[in-house]
Amino acid sequence: MHTTTANQSETVLAPREVERLITGKATSDGAGVKLTRVLTHDLQHRLDPFLMLDAFGTDNPQDYIGGFPDHPHRGFETVTYMIAGRMRHRDSAGNEGLLQNGSVQWMTAGRGVIHSELPEQEDGRMEGFQLWLNLPAAEKMRAPWYRDIRNEEIPEYASDDGVTVRVIAGESHGVAGAVQRETTLPLYLDLHFDAAAEFAQALPVSFNAFVYVYRGNLRIGETDIPQQRMAILRNQPNSDGVVLQGMEGTRALLIAGLPLNEPIVQYGPFVMNTEQQIFQAVEDFRAGRF
Ligand code: MN
Repeated sequence: MHTTTANQSETVLAPREVERLITGKATSDGAGVKLTRVLTHDLQHRLDPFLMLDAFGTDNPQDYIGGFPDHPHRGFETVTYMIAGRMRHRDSAGNEGLLQNGSVQWMTAGRGVIHSELPEQEDGRMEGFQLWLNLPAAEKMRAPWYRDIRNEEIPEYASDDGVTVRVIAGESHGVAGAVQRETTLPLYLDLHFDAAAEFAQALPVSFNAFVYVYRGNLRIGETDIPQQRMAILRNQPNSDGVVLQGMEGTRALLIAGLPLNEPIVQYGPFVMNTEQQIFQAVEDFRAGRF
């Protein structure tokens, strides 16, 4: 584990409140993989630059064994975070990787990739998340990019209060995350509370931000957030961050980023700015140009 100490504490004087709580929608995708869509289509503008968050977690192989056979993407990035289980990734750009316990796969689809994500286990627990991060208009047709980030490559620190913070993207308490992105400046933290504790994170007012609790429960200001709920944080003028109060065993994702404020047109796995660009994506895919 790449553990470091925070070299800066973050003082939050005017914390954001919770705007509303969201219960994910049970659905299935790929070849019958059961999952919970936490960030749904109707929240894409509210949570710009994030387009989707899926949570999956099951001990039943029937819920995941089909995996996600070959399918395309264009116009955004996918960030897959595995908490438990093993998935094999293969794509049309020639990349291959094994995603397992605590590792992250960051894939920039750009102008297009076709990939598969298939379980490499026949029993046991499969648990994790897939976040979709939009690309600015000027980068939607950039070359695809891919990185596997092993568990031990994810920077991790213990806060003064003893909260273990895994910094997947962005920066927290002076610790730089595994991935940095210009334009959308995503912050992606996985927080583990070993005991009741408070955790403060600075957030620019302009950032859209949300928290997803996947173990235990959490309190933000006056709001209790039970397990498997997403809390959208209000963009209060003059606020400077968020303060989370976790219990023993609480685990939560804190995700934030700078909105693009560009038109969003989605057709399944293609997310562009105009309908014309979507027609083009479908045509390019059918013509084998991915
Ligand atoms: Mn995919």
